[in-house]
Amino acid sequence: MIFETHAHLDFFANSDDNSVFYRICESCIENNISKIVVPPISFDSNFVIADLLKGYEENIFQAIGLHPKEAINTILTNKKQEELLDLYREKQNIVAIKTGLDFSKTKLQEAQIKHQIESFRRLTIMAAELNLGLILHIRDAWSQFLIEWEAIIKKLDDMNLKTPKTVIHCCNGRNLKETEEVINKGINFFGVGGKIFTDVSLRNTIKDLSLKCIVLETDSPYLQPEAYIPPDFIREYEKNGHRKLKGINTPQSLTLIAGEVANIKGIPIEKVIEETYNNAMELFSL
Ligand SMILES: [Zn+2]
Repeated sequence: MIFETHAHLDFFANSDDNSVFYRICESCIENNISKIVVPPISFDSNFVIADLLKGYEENIFQAIGLHPKEAINTILTNKKQEELLDLYREKQNIVAIKTGLDFSKTKLQEAQIKHQIESFRRLTIMAAELNLGLILHIRDAWSQFLIEWEAIIKKLDDMNLKTPKTVIHCCNGRNLKETEEVINKGINFFGVGGKIFTDVSLRNTIKDLSLKCIVLETDSPYLQPEAYIPPDFIREYEKNGHRKLKGINTPQSLTLIAGEVANIKGIPIEKVIEETYNNAMELFSL
């Protein structure tokens, strides 16, 4: 059984027709991808995802929170945080909080950076308080992240709260020494996806990184591995131009990703699948 720790399955839903979304869910479950976590893109998507996953709660779980890119303009007010808390109380399949820092592409204004950092702090504390896993999206913000993280762990300690079980989502080119540095700061999991095929420094790090620290993710519908051929209904969907994206990825490409991790580490694929599944169960306290 494979555990997919990060897939934006709501991408496949439409206001008028969710059939592709349901087909993806069904085909994942049929193909041994027995657990999936769906993180939010926008604040509103927290609620859209909760509705979509009705009936799939045993297999498909939800992360709530705010993508750092959205956190620059959508301020995480007390009211918004309360809405997330209400959703958490209402649903049984919420297993994580998603937040992070992302300074990529556009140059952010000082106020926008402040909002992002504030939302990162608040959501991390919320994860600790609710005993939820923490999914961190860190992009072009590594040094700032390390500074903020130190401050947050200190604050949690002052509040008598444990550091949440944390994953750095969409790992890339950080070397083993830098990776071990954050492991020492209480971050125990690293999400490995399609970049494993192309990112040389990620491949080198994975070689020596303990399998105990690895969870699998696709970031579907993004980051399609070159060798992955999606099921026919997805190619049909793509051909019909429902959603514009070059090369749609689905959680089923995890078999290729697990195979590549196994290749790099020189171990059987079954071991990669089993251990990463157990790691994800631990990360999300399932
Ligand atoms: Zn993502």
